[in-house]
Amino acid sequence: MGLLTTGRPLIWWDSLPHLNYIREHGIEQFVNVFIATHDRQGDVLKWGDEIEYTILNVNEEERRAYLSLRAPEIILELQREEEQATQAPVTTLQQRLTRDDDEGHDDEHPVVEVPETLWRPEYANWMVEGTPGVPYSCYMRDLVLVEQNMALRRAQIRHVLRPGERVLSLTAYPLLGCGRFSEPSGRGVCGPVARSLYLPDAVINPHPRFGTLTRNIRLRRGHPVAIHVPLYHDLKTPSQIPIWEGGTRHGGVVEVDSRQTSEELDRLTSKAGGQLASAANTRPTPSEGLVWLRSQPEDKVEKERISLTWIDGHEPVMQYDAQQDGARHLCETAGLADLNDRHHDGKCTSPDIYMDAMGFGMGLCCLQITLQAANMDEGRYLYDQLAVLAPVMLALTAATPALRGFLANTDVRWNIISASVDDRTPLESNHECPPNSRYSSIDCFISNRPEMKAHLYNDRPVLIHERSYERLIEAGVDERLARHVAHLFVRDPLVIFDDFASVDDRESLTHFENLQSTNWNTVRFKPPAQTGANTSAGWRTEFRPMELQITDFENAAFTVFMVLLSRCILAFGMNLYIPISKIDENLAKAHQRDAVLQGKFWFRKHIFAREAELSCSVQCHYRCACGAEHCISFQSQHTGSPTRSDLSPSRSCPFRFCTDPDPEAMELMTIDEIMNGKPCCEKHAFRKAYPGLVTLVRAYLDAMPGLDQATRTRLSAYLDFVSARASGRLLTFAAWMRQFIMNHASYQQDSRVTPEACYDLLQHCIELAEGRRSEPALLGEFWPKHHIQKNLTSHEFSKLRSQIHEEDSPQLRGESFREELLPAAASRILDTVSICARTSLCTHEDHRHHHDHRRQ
Ligand code: ADP
Ligand code: MG
Ligand code: MG
Repeated sequence: MGLLTTGRPLIWWDSLPHLNYIREHGIEQFVNVFIATHDRQGDVLKWGDEIEYTILNVNEEERRAYLSLRAPEIILELQREEEQATQAPVTTLQQRLTRDDDEGHDDEHPVVEVPETLWRPEYANWMVEGTPGVPYSCYMRDLVLVEQNMALRRAQIRHVLRPGERVLSLTAYPLLGCGRFSEPSGRGVCGPVARSLYLPDAVINPHPRFGTLTRNIRLRRGHPVAIHVPLYHDLKTPSQIPIWEGGTRHGGVVEVDSRQTSEELDRLTSKAGGQLASAANTRPTPSEGLVWLRSQPEDKVEKERISLTWIDGHEPVMQYDAQQDGARHLCETAGLADLNDRHHDGKCTSPDIYMDAMGFGMGLCCLQITLQAANMDEGRYLYDQLAVLAPVMLALTAATPALRGFLANTDVRWNIISASVDDRTPLESNHECPPNSRYSSIDCFISNRPEMKAHLYNDRPVLIHERSYERLIEAGVDERLARHVAHLFVRDPLVIFDDFASVDDRESLTHFENLQSTNWNTVRFKPPAQTGANTSAGWRTEFRPMELQITDFENAAFTVFMVLLSRCILAFGMNLYIPISKIDENLAKAHQRDAVLQGKFWFRKHIFAREAELSCSVQCHYRCACGAEHCISFQSQHTGSPTRSDLSPSRSCPFRFCTDPDPEAMELMTIDEIMNGKPCCEKHAFRKAYPGLVTLVRAYLDAMPGLDQATRTRLSAYLDFVSARASGRLLTFAAWMRQFIMNHASYQQDSRVTPEACYDLLQHCIELAEGRRSEPALLGEFWPKHHIQKNLTSHEFSKLRSQIHEEDSPQLRGESFREELLPAAASRILDTVSICARTSLCTHEDHRHHHDHRRQ
């Protein structure tokens, strides 16, 4: 992340005078990178995944599966290979944990043999983040390395585990915050950092960034975060569930850290008069610094100043015995005190699953993918397209059906994390200004490709930090990108280290990253790193919504699918734009239980050009029985990026993808339809008017010459699997896990996840992950058939990787695909969409038949 990690982090009150400094310098840093790299061209594809693993401690005698809090030690051991490879021994735990990501390998000038895996701390002490040691490259055969590397990572973790410890790629541990859930138990809830009555501070990774984030979010907000997740109602689920089950479930004595509270009290009282007040006067209040930008149809923007007066949150000092008053306190922070007073004679209950700490969100694990773009334009275009796909892929990878010991009525993690890091003050929340948490979907598209007309889809006003925006414009950053960056800078920097002023803006992106890395959106646009070992990195787009699957096969399948789809988007010049407000609707839908089966998502009706836009032969459009005119075409003109005007457009191919700028050109589709295609009408059900994303990826692969059979077979298995999940033939992990819990002998139809069910579930998952078990409802015929029996060692993996790069393996093609291969792919897609009417236009008879059919 390139974050400054030496020095002492400042508590919120002390960072107030410096917020503006960080913003100003963050913008300067971005401007410097922009000036140096905005016209950087021709970066080859590099890409990589990130997986957050969960470490468990399984006690077979007790038949309990706890979270192990040993991840920091485990990471130290795992980093040994990296340490050897970089020949930079890091000795103390603190140094190791605070090590900057940039200090890794330099993939173009390896000093020594590179490590094949990299390990980084994540928010919670049960989490270990693992990535490939070297980003994958542009060869098709890199795609088959993914699963091998995931298997290698898993094997490496297993190698350093102690007896009883297990590793899982699990998004959500279902008993987090229930009684004793960790090993060691981490006694002492209501600690000074999170002030959570469920999660002790001991679960937070000791890297100073994480504790400071937790605390400063809480302090900025003025009270603990409040997460409310809808409860799943089964036959015997009460309308209200206990908000906290006190000492029995927690099993420990609550320790209120009075030293800490009085220290804060001193700090507050000494600052309340003079210092804090003056600090507050000198920093920009939101009313000075923030404006709404509204897009106008003509690609103009209109500014609207907002008036919000800043209120500094003061932390109420907690001086109670949480063991006695804990539930009461939770009730108050959950906003449920009144309800409980009125209805429950002091018994503290809530109608939903309430959680009170950042760890409930940031302790959830996910799968992310970063893709390097050829240039800034490509990265921005991909950012927009992937943002549209985010809710779909979130729903498809759903893996979060149970939280804090209860079954939720939702299947995915997003809103939970969103609430867990929502640092807005009550005033900001009430005014919806900013309208959402720092963890959210995107608020604006950023591509400048003229034919895509992104501005038409930016239908929400975007809050920007005005001074940042003006500086960016002055420095020559175009309006759309300036808006995006100034939008990130609406937020306050949350973690400032006391040596912040030592950073050189010409060399570092530290202050920019401070804000960038705490705007957790479904996609992230990453600028090239200017210094550090990863200077070779270009403009990158990160896809962040996907949840984790239990097996390497599944995680590899979703990773490979997304990488291939990203190539298709570039190769075909696809246009997936829908309005931002519709993406928001889709994201909300993605949360619904079984959204894959039941949910309907806004998606473009025509991804092929309409007749009016075509200059090509009429052969590729047809009138269908549904009465509509369908056209099949793929873009043949180059995409009009000004910096690429020297490229000659292909003249050979008449096909075009739709660049229809009509924001209404969309409809509601199921995930099955989005992925596997949609018939043009009921009568022609066997024909697809819209071929589906998986079909497009298949066509792309089929058009790729020189792909060896083994690679093709593996990739096909991934696509078949993704297709099967999308069709509902295979359950999502969320659906399967819910079923498992509800079918468990200990289940009382009351929506509770019993410790017995949790133990059996996780044991089951461990066996699945290790290929010792099949689970047809979840994995069908794919597993354990595709389990890699023999894991490669790091050394063997290196050999395989370098072999691929030496061989003349076919390359993953982006825009260059269009020149030569598009006609082949296009005819394959034409076959799939089956243009009967190319030769025979539908007859009147057909129409009547069709309408009769519909009336029935
Ligand atoms: P962050 O945590 O900020 O998202 P990481 O540094 O952990 O980013 O890396 C994310 C992923 O990016 C890793 O999988 C890594 O292999 C990959 N990666 C590294 N360098 C590049 C590059 N130049 N282009 C694309 N991906 C890269
Ligand atoms: Mg990372
Ligand atoms: Mg990441």
